[in-house]
Amino acid sequence: MDMQTSFLDRLFDSGLLIETGVDGLYGRSGTFEDVIAAFERLIDRFGGADGAEAIRFPPGMNRAYFEKSGYMKSFPQLAGTVHSFCGCELDHVSLIKAMDEGQDWTGEQKATDIVLTPAACYPLYPTIAKRGRLKQKGGLYDLQSYCFRHEPSNDPARQQLFRMREYVCMGTQQDVTDFRQLWMDRGVKMMAEVELPVEIDVANDPFFGRAGKMMVNNQRDQNLKFELLIPITSVAKPTACMSFNYHQDSFGVKWGLELHDGAVAHTACVGFGLERIALALFHHHGLDPKLWPATVRKALWG
Ligand code: 5GP
Ligand code: ZN
Repeated sequence: MDMQTSFLDRLFDSGLLIETGVDGLYGRSGTFEDVIAAFERLIDRFGGADGAEAIRFPPGMNRAYFEKSGYMKSFPQLAGTVHSFCGCELDHVSLIKAMDEGQDWTGEQKATDIVLTPAACYPLYPTIAKRGRLKQKGGLYDLQSYCFRHEPSNDPARQQLFRMREYVCMGTQQDVTDFRQLWMDRGVKMMAEVELPVEIDVANDPFFGRAGKMMVNNQRDQNLKFELLIPITSVAKPTACMSFNYHQDSFGVKWGLELHDGAVAHTACVGFGLERIALALFHHHGLDPKLWPATVRKALWG
């Protein structure tokens, strides 16, 4: 049995994760949720005084915004769209018949105006652009959302529906690269407080297809994305538990985000993979948080 499957089985046996019959789609116990809540309070302790505006979007976003974002150009394999039955009574009869006969019943399902959110910050940019120019100090936002990525796996650290906490900064190039560096330093400090081993490395996203290779090279060569990695199910391939992204002015141009003087805004975002961080804690400190080192418990529960 590989390390991923054995860790997943231990998580199921302990009740921390609950099987649904679909790889990467799990229920979570109260104990698991308590660890996530405690880690989010730690995030607040580090970032709370920065004055970010808290916004919570649901896990679905406006399909028109999603289309404009270009996500389907880069990651069509990961996207999830929400479809609903839009037929007449006759269509309904055929649907029920197909379902009863174990045939494909989804033919009449039509795309709705909603797609599943691929990253917590996606609904933010058009929302902020609609407000008009940013204030002189730029913009800083605190987000958390369930995100969907279609990548079924038996690695418990690769889930299809997971929560991402993010801070997003909009400002000048200097503002947003300073913000990103600040959170790289904070990320290392936070993980030291909960006694998790980390390394930071340049990263690349799984851009689709041959054209995607160029995007990967560009992202890596320009240091646009860093990740904070923690070994969970593999020491050789540690898992990205935080990411630090500098979008240059690409979202500013796409969405018309303007600084107070009308210049195009640069943006950066910092994401915490909350399930992954909880899994890293369970992997390193054991499946029962009551038995974790007192120092770690203090950092998380005071
Ligand atoms: P990114 O947008 O950089 O791919 O993802 C942001 C953060 O979300 C990652 O650093 C990671 O912590 C988390 N994340 C990304 N993909 C997955 C996944 O498949 N499962 C889980 N649980 N977290 C993920
Ligand atoms: Zn983001």
